[in-house]
Amino acid sequence: MTGLLDRTHDDWLAAATSLVPEGRMYVDGDYHAAASGETFESRSPRDGGLVAPVARGDAADVDRAVAAARAAFADGRWHQRSPRSRQQVLRRWADLIREHTEELALLETLDMGKPVVESVRLDVTAAAGCIQWYAEALDKIYDEVAPTGPHQLVTITREPLGVVGAVVPWNYPLIIASWKLAPALATGNSVVLKPAEQSSLSALLLARLASEAGLPDGVLGVVPGLGPEAGQALGRHGDVDKIAFTGSGEVGKAFLRYAGESNGKQVQLEAGGKSPQLVLADAGDLDAVAQSVAWGICYNAGQTCNAGSRLVVDRAVRDELLAKVLAINATFVVGDPLDPATTMGPIVDEAQLRRVLGYVDAGREDGAKVTGGERVRVGSGGFFVEPTVLDQVASGSRVAREEIFGPVLAVQEFSGLEEGVALANATDYGLAASVWTRDIGTAHRVARRLRAGTVWVNTFDATDVFAPFGGFKQSGAGRDKSLHALTEYTGLKTTWIDLS
Ligand code: NAD
Repeated sequence: MTGLLDRTHDDWLAAATSLVPEGRMYVDGDYHAAASGETFESRSPRDGGLVAPVARGDAADVDRAVAAARAAFADGRWHQRSPRSRQQVLRRWADLIREHTEELALLETLDMGKPVVESVRLDVTAAAGCIQWYAEALDKIYDEVAPTGPHQLVTITREPLGVVGAVVPWNYPLIIASWKLAPALATGNSVVLKPAEQSSLSALLLARLASEAGLPDGVLGVVPGLGPEAGQALGRHGDVDKIAFTGSGEVGKAFLRYAGESNGKQVQLEAGGKSPQLVLADAGDLDAVAQSVAWGICYNAGQTCNAGSRLVVDRAVRDELLAKVLAINATFVVGDPLDPATTMGPIVDEAQLRRVLGYVDAGREDGAKVTGGERVRVGSGGFFVEPTVLDQVASGSRVAREEIFGPVLAVQEFSGLEEGVALANATDYGLAASVWTRDIGTAHRVARRLRAGTVWVNTFDATDVFAPFGGFKQSGAGRDKSLHALTEYTGLKTTWIDLS
């Protein structure tokens, strides 16, 4: 990894030119064209250029992958292995991911536009780390024996669910895939993964590396394709036991419908946010707060489910803080994600760019004062937008309530704690929040009152695989990461033995 972080822009451009991405689906231990022979184009948001044709999987391909996954589950080729044996495969997989950092990071950056330095430092590293963490956990978890009298033995064991369908978005393709795959596979399930159409390529390589690590054929399939085609087919499949979904709320609700209209499969949802950074009058070091606010919304060009998209700030410190945030925003280097100097890459595609700019217009029409908000680097052919602040946002307006998924910060102000907490909670989402205060009592009290799956105190976006991630309210149900995620992929079995 060190060598990769020393590379120049020219080094990465040369590496990208010699990369030959695999776009076929991965089923039963090998790559295949879609049954229809159809493909769609993966285009890079950095310049609009073709990255690779990708198999356009549909219901027939999903059927094939689910059948392979079911066959693998039925004969126990994976879940009946000893935990230690499964552990060795998953650890080897994590090692192979690290060995393929260059290729995976390039695929991630070309497909969805995140700065390649971040793809190396964070995305590939975190995906490998997540798989290794679950590998290490899986032989350290014990089942239960119920407290019975002498004439019974009642065991409570966790069993894999069977075939899991994982459907993921484009913003962190490797990381979010690993959050689903690692606990699902560690607990012995088979998985069919449907990556987002904007970012299928890293998942297709990930699957081959799993086979190389020794994962038996059929246990993991990756079927790229369009949401309403491959995604819907997986959601409605009668032989899929569970859907693990991350994406928009609207599509999450579609998966609940698919389940209700098919076999009533379990559905776990991670469905976005409108996360507030609540800054109280006694926040203290406003330079540190400003760093967190600016990076909290501009990291990954704002395409982060838990992005700090709302600054909710006490009037007493508002002007000073906002001036600092705007000064930091001016220092972001918006540029080619293959250039190591770039700190903010493009928006994933033209449709999403238009959506982001549409929200800026909506904010302006609702009376917000806009700083930034323009498309930049138009000549590159890519989809870049500058860091943007919408100040004096009215609390009922669309930009205060809806997820924009771009580097656009909505600023709201208040006087006093009660108004601040109410404003922070005034959203249909409940994924994440932060509170900034120097008073430890206030910090604890406010953290309890913020309705969010993760509350940060005097920091933002601190994360690790050991901490659960997911939301309240319309941000979803269920949790990725941590040991709690293992329960998402298992069911309890009671075995009642009469000893008399
Ligand atoms: P999306 O909901 O459009 O797509 C997510 C996945 O669902 C993709 O694989 C897509 O192909 C599939 N899909 C789309 N339409 C479908 C349909 N009709 N039937 C079945 N499948 C369908 O989301 P996106 O645009 O890829 O990602 C951005 C969204 O994801 C944002 O709203 C963001 O907040 C959310 N997100 C949430 C989290 C979280 O943890 N809560 C994490 C990352 C992203």
